[in-house]
Amino acid sequence: MIPPLDAAAQAAVPADTAAVQPGTDGSEPLHEPCVLLKLGEIVLKGRNRQQFERLLHTNIRSAVRQMGFVTRLWQREGVILLQIGDDCADPEAAADALAERMQDIPGIVQVCRTLRVAKDPDAAAAAAVELTAGRPGSFAVRARRRDKRFAMKSSDLNAYIGTRVQQAHGYRVNLSRPDNTVFVEVDQHEVFVFTEGLPGQGGLPVGMSGRALVLMSGGIDSPVAAYRMIRRGLRCDFLHFSGMPLTGPESVYKAYALVRGLNRFQGRSRLFVVAFGKAQQRLASSGASRLQIVAQRRLMLATGEILANRLGGAALVTGDSLGQVSSQTLTNLTALDDAVSLPILRPLIGWDKTEIMAEARRIRTLAISELPDEDCCTLLTPRRVETRARIEDLRRIEGRLDVGDLAEQLAAAAQEYGPGR
Ligand code: ATP
Ligand code: MG
Repeated sequence: MIPPLDAAAQAAVPADTAAVQPGTDGSEPLHEPCVLLKLGEIVLKGRNRQQFERLLHTNIRSAVRQMGFVTRLWQREGVILLQIGDDCADPEAAADALAERMQDIPGIVQVCRTLRVAKDPDAAAAAAVELTAGRPGSFAVRARRRDKRFAMKSSDLNAYIGTRVQQAHGYRVNLSRPDNTVFVEVDQHEVFVFTEGLPGQGGLPVGMSGRALVLMSGGIDSPVAAYRMIRRGLRCDFLHFSGMPLTGPESVYKAYALVRGLNRFQGRSRLFVVAFGKAQQRLASSGASRLQIVAQRRLMLATGEILANRLGGAALVTGDSLGQVSSQTLTNLTALDDAVSLPILRPLIGWDKTEIMAEARRIRTLAISELPDEDCCTLLTPRRVETRARIEDLRRIEGRLDVGDLAEQLAAAAQEYGPGR
């Protein structure tokens, strides 16, 4: 059952109980730049909600640890408040940097760089006047109360603050299509005033859905697949197969750079690299022929499964998209599923290449993926690739070289890198 929001509000305690909230003792007028985070689906998670919130707090804390200033975190009703420590030399710049960093953390739908002021209509109006200075055009005030006991109703606050902004700057009110909007949120201890909400990643806090191993090529698709799964709360490790020693190390550099780029969404990312060239040659000499590509992919998956079991991963993730290349026909994907017992997650299965490329551009992996390299899959590619691989044929080829043993050896030889360190 979903708990009523009011009960949750009453239970809302600071996540950081050691800290005292500055500015609430009435000594100086409160005027504090900070960041307010809006949570998405996680507020719908019923009784597990606190557990999810705690996971998100942990992820936020580790993301801000390297930022060079102290951040205090408070859980409120459906929102998280981040305050900058008192000893920060430039709290405005720190709040800007913090807001930008929070846009990468899954589980947050909106990031608001806000002013925190006293719980009083005049303080809110003064903040609104300040934030709208130099932003001509029409405007609207949108107030809401998380504390329903606040004396002024939202509509009265809108009118009161709107009048003050109008008097100060002479801007015109337009409630339906304003050029600028002032958001005013009345909370238990204070009022937050801000003029825009930046989009967050949405999704679920990393770790909420468990752990998986991503088969990461240097191509366009697999980093996008990894991102989509990280965003759904899966903590991901990465496995790359290079064609070494038959190719150079370029694809490894690309995989490393891609994992490093994706690391901002989850932190602590690990990359495992397997030199796959000799194993590819062995498959070829066992007569894989038109089945070479599918046989290679089965061996990659089998190796991935061994590694995933070692790392506590409960699934494998690939960038497969139905029908995109000949190894991705439905029959061939079924033959790949047959190679392992772990589930294979394919978040891009129904995506077009143009959609995948747009997402790759948005998450800033596309430029790395497009760098030239010698992909191991282009080694030993048969002239015609089988589009309807038969599982019996694949097993026969694999039987000739004891593929289980080979996968064990490859997994044991995997080299670990720490692009997330
Ligand atoms: P990508 O753009 O991700 O390379 P693709 O369109 O080139 O995908 P394939 O080469 O058939 O398609 O690979 C499909 C999936 O198999 C990849 O998305 C990836 O998950 C996995 N894969 C392919 N090559 C490698 C590799 N060298 N190392 C690890 N995984 C790989
Ligand atoms: Mg590829």
